[in-house]
Amino acid sequence: MREVLEKLAKLQRLDNELKILQDKSNDIPKRIEGLKLTVDNKKQEIKECQEKILNLKKENKLLEVELKSVEDKIVQYSAQLYSAKTNEQYKAFLKEIDAQKKEKTRIEDKIIEVLENLELTEKKLKELESELKDTEVIAAENLKKLEKEDAEVKKAIKEREEIRQELIKELTAETVAIYERIRKSKNGVAVVIVNDERCQGCFNPLPAQKILEIKKNDRIHFCEYCGRIVISKEINSTLA
Ligand SMILES: [Zn+2]
Repeated sequence: MREVLEKLAKLQRLDNELKILQDKSNDIPKRIEGLKLTVDNKKQEIKECQEKILNLKKENKLLEVELKSVEDKIVQYSAQLYSAKTNEQYKAFLKEIDAQKKEKTRIEDKIIEVLENLELTEKKLKELESELKDTEVIAAENLKKLEKEDAEVKKAIKEREEIRQELIKELTAETVAIYERIRKSKNGVAVVIVNDERCQGCFNPLPAQKILEIKKNDRIHFCEYCGRIVISKEINSTLA
């Protein structure tokens, strides 16, 4: 019977390890996705920056056209100034010239603003492009690491699954069924040890008599609180 208990403990340890490995394995695609996302985000930032540059250049062109039109008007009104026939007409032309000059200043200020913004955005684009290169290098390195880790984890899972299959063959179908039933209902933990006179599955204190019985290692005992298989530390001290 002691052998059966040892095998059950070994089975539990294998399943604990498999659980950790499975979680790791399931996590790897998400981590790979995360790497791609950092690169994609950087590319998106670059795209937005390039669009902003295009828009600023368009805006600048429009402003240049506007400026030219205002300058033409100023020339036109200035020429007309000398052909004014009345004082009122003269004053009206002066007023118009003044208004166009103000408009010219406004457009020129706006052009300066747009050009400054364009310069900053182009600088930012260069930075982003350099950052993208770094991000891509780091992502490629990490991807290699993750692919290696993935292969290692899968190998470790396969190894343990093979050992598990052999181990199961060495137990009776009934014992395996009990183990699996408890494992499924108790969040993956079917076999626990007694420590400090407590079941290490539910941490309830076990009666002294029961502990003595468990220590005999001569049959399968169940925790009366959580229903898990409880074994002595002597059988396996590595199970929590
Ligand atoms: Zn318990």
